[in-house]
Amino acid sequence: MKKYNFNAGPCILPREVIENTAKQILDFNGIGLSLAEISHRSKNFQPVIDEASALVKELLDVPESYSVLFLGGGASLEFHMIPMNFLVKKAGYLNTGVWAKKAIKEAKMLGDVVEVASSADDNYTYIPKGYEVPTDLDYLHITTNNTIYGTELHNDPDVPVRLIGDMSSDFLSRPVDVAKYDCIYGGAQKNLSMAGVTFVIVKDDALGKVDRQIPTMLDYRTHVDKGSMFNTPPVVPIYTALENLRWVKAQGGVEAMAKIAKERADLLYGEIDRNKLFRGTVKNEEDRSYMNICFVLNDEYNDLQQEFFDFATARGMVGIKGHRSVGGFRASCYNAQTIEGVQALVDTMKEFEAQH
Ligand SMILES: *Cc1c(COP(=O)(O)O)cnc(C)c1O
Repeated sequence: MKKYNFNAGPCILPREVIENTAKQILDFNGIGLSLAEISHRSKNFQPVIDEASALVKELLDVPESYSVLFLGGGASLEFHMIPMNFLVKKAGYLNTGVWAKKAIKEAKMLGDVVEVASSADDNYTYIPKGYEVPTDLDYLHITTNNTIYGTELHNDPDVPVRLIGDMSSDFLSRPVDVAKYDCIYGGAQKNLSMAGVTFVIVKDDALGKVDRQIPTMLDYRTHVDKGSMFNTPPVVPIYTALENLRWVKAQGGVEAMAKIAKERADLLYGEIDRNKLFRGTVKNEEDRSYMNICFVLNDEYNDLQQEFFDFATARGMVGIKGHRSVGGFRASCYNAQTIEGVQALVDTMKEFEAQH
């Protein structure tokens, strides 16, 4: 049976990206050694990281004065590195869910934190709007896509301070106005690569403004100076990222990714809104994520939860169970998700409706 992968992360990657990585793990560029057993400093690997950074810059039109880094630690380590490197006195955070709260917790260890707005009052099912941003913040931190709740900021907000963005789960799914940000970061395992590498895009001259002593590994300048090679970077996940970046470029870049993301989302939200059994958990259309599409059974059909899950599983759907803090279902539709996959889920929902 054909499997349709809706996992939230680690998640679907283009088949050719997996195949090309598998080949290089067996024999890297025909040198008779595995990608996994060569020095990261060798002349064989340097071009990989160079091309990967160059492609991030090209695809997102990153201005000259920024560096692209590939690090370890995941987005969760960035939650602490961000205030370490950028929080002088006071930072603002937009509280849009679990990941934002984890970022806030780390920042509070290092300075004053203002929660500029929160959607906690409705279990994070919307993106706050119309809030005031104090002009004396060192930065405003946003989570552009809220993986767990299925809300997304579809553009880069206009605020009077510098932005920092956790883009773990919508990286490369739309064009980004990088110039508004001092830093963009995320774990790679949702839209860029396999788990193990963290991407960071950092504005070079925004660094070095804090007085605190920063541990060497937590100081972005360490990694900027050494081109992500201060210590051994995760070479295989970086290679997979390179293959995926090449794939994104070949598809037509982030504009093409944004177009197909909208098509997938329209198809699935259209069915959720039409089908009598289901409803979306995010009410405002403009807040609905194109990456993580969350839905539940309508109250009168709520006892069908397990039955629908089994029904969908029997038709090849994988990973559609909602996050435990939201319940219901979540279909993650990252860049590599096909219209065919989404159509298969839509057909499953229709078929299930016909039986009830
Ligand atoms: C998954 C996720 C994280 C955590 O990423 P790790 O790489 O596992 O630390 C942070 N932010 C968002 C938005 C996520 O989806």
